[in-house]
Amino acid sequence: MLQRFWPVEEIHVEAIANNHIFDKLLEYVQNHRVMCLVIGADEPWCEKRINANWLDIEKYRDDLSRKYSVLSNYAKIGLHVHLYHKYSLTKMSFKDQLEKIAETKRFVESACGRVVDFAPGWWNYDLDTLKACEVLGLTRFHCRTKLPVWWSPKIAYVHVHRWIHDFDLK
Ligand SMILES: [Zn+2]
Repeated sequence: MLQRFWPVEEIHVEAIANNHIFDKLLEYVQNHRVMCLVIGADEPWCEKRINANWLDIEKYRDDLSRKYSVLSNYAKIGLHVHLYHKYSLTKMSFKDQLEKIAETKRFVESACGRVVDFAPGWWNYDLDTLKACEVLGLTRFHCRTKLPVWWSPKIAYVHVHRWIHDFDLK
């Protein structure tokens, strides 16, 4: 019940290849104080959201980059990276997690400048995720209800009560 009255704290941005969703999101961030946690250009699962015009990956990257840059004028930007498959517990190795998060960070920072916030996809993470964030200087780790058991003095845990996706803004 609490969630209903809690203001939206953050938006997980996954579908702004769709210009209509981007326009809605832009309007929202111009009128609300909210963070945007954005995906990298290489999230394979979100290709489903890319319409036929965005099959050119370079064009897609440029478009995403431009949109992230615009968003960063209105909202604080962080990273949203999916490290697990939603329906299985297949886990990525520390090295693979580190590489994927580092690549997303490089891409997002080239558009928005330095980022320190990280929210794991589907709120799924493990010790390796926390360690990778520590290595990469992602000092604000967003989690949903349970706080991680492993406590790093270099990481602040951000307890998120209410979040939405960009594609929920219809
Ligand atoms: Zn997500």
